[in-house]
Amino acid sequence: MNKLSRRSLLRRSSGLAGAAAVSLPAPGAGAQEKRPAPDKKLKVVAVGGHSDDPQTCAGGTLALYADQGHEVIALTLTGGPLPGPDANPEERSVKIRLGSQRCADILGVRLDCLDYSGGNMGEFRYGTACEISGQRHNEFNELLLDKYKPDIVFTHWPIDFHMDHRAASLLTYVAWLRSGKKFPLYYMEAELGVQTQNFLPTHFVDISSVEQRTHDAWKALTVWYDSVWPLHDLMRRNRGAERGSKVAEAFNHHPQSPLTPGLP
Ligand SMILES: [Zn+2]
Repeated sequence: MNKLSRRSLLRRSSGLAGAAAVSLPAPGAGAQEKRPAPDKKLKVVAVGGHSDDPQTCAGGTLALYADQGHEVIALTLTGGPLPGPDANPEERSVKIRLGSQRCADILGVRLDCLDYSGGNMGEFRYGTACEISGQRHNEFNELLLDKYKPDIVFTHWPIDFHMDHRAASLLTYVAWLRSGKKFPLYYMEAELGVQTQNFLPTHFVDISSVEQRTHDAWKALTVWYDSVWPLHDLMRRNRGAERGSKVAEAFNHHPQSPLTPGLP
């Protein structure tokens, strides 16, 4: 006979009904306001394919965690080290990497980029970031579970136009399985309809208190701002309408993962 542990009870309350149990930011909390140090400092890790993905898919939520005093890391498969001082600032890859760093800085998030090469889905041009093999799984498990030791993890929803997003999602999912499903696992959305498809949110985070800051972070992404910001702006306003707030971010919580620690 199964014991009804606290975790199993929490699991049973997950889904839309469980959303109501999630603690949300205090109404009117200031965007830049630093809150007192939390009782337990959490390690929040958002895994993305590219150096801008965690910030653009979950930037408001990550900023709220950072403001609460938690350690927040954007971990991406591509991006590599920061360009050196002699790098050409007009080069596209340099612009993207520096913009992603600036974006993370504005949100209060640490950006760690692995050095796999990205692909181009539109041209079916593959890089090493999309490769999925036993060895890659082992490397990523070791990295995520042994080095980062996360308390909460976000990653891409697995049905996504971009192969690097799909790879990030699968690698993270397998690491979560290997952990014994021990941390909350949330899926995030990127360019809904264009990249993320068939996405069903279970949880929403009101990001109204960091609305301007997250917009400023987006502006740092000079390569993507004009073409992609309008869609993400529409997404967060529509999610806000669903949530009942001005703007919101939506996530899909894996129902077999714990609900605590909760969303910010
Ligand atoms: Zn991406």
